[in-house]
Amino acid sequence: MECIFCRILAGEIPSQEVMSDEDFIAIRDINPKAPVHVLIVPRQHITDMNELAASEPALAGRLFQAVGRVAAKEGIAQSGYRVIVNCGPDGGQEVAHLHLHLLGGRPIGPMVSQP
Ligand code: 5GP
Ligand code: ZN
Repeated sequence: MECIFCRILAGEIPSQEVMSDEDFIAIRDINPKAPVHVLIVPRQHITDMNELAASEPALAGRLFQAVGRVAAKEGIAQSGYRVIVNCGPDGGQEVAHLHLHLLGGRPIGPMVSQP
């Protein structure tokens, strides 16, 4: 198995789990960009946002519900947070297994502007 997140899901690579259910695991990012940086990773190997939209639209709703649950558990629901999903080369996706970044615990700052 080559996919790093599938290997984490299989327990072959250790991770710091924050929460999980039948659809996803939420783990701390190994290289955090904010005090709270959690990755919400579906158990199903879905490559990216394109595949999610095409083949598992109902799962998309459940993953967004998971964001709210993880944010509450991490204590950032009221202070706020940013959710990022990178897709493909222009989106800067490095791991080809869909995941949502949940970032918070400090002001995340402005979004990247058009050069
Ligand atoms: P992407 O650029 O694909 O949206 O984000 C991939 C994220 O996965 C990066 O933020 C990176 O730090 C994180 N990551 C890569 N390998 C591992 C790992 O083995 N464990 C954990 N917890 N995070 C990882
Ligand atoms: Zn995978």
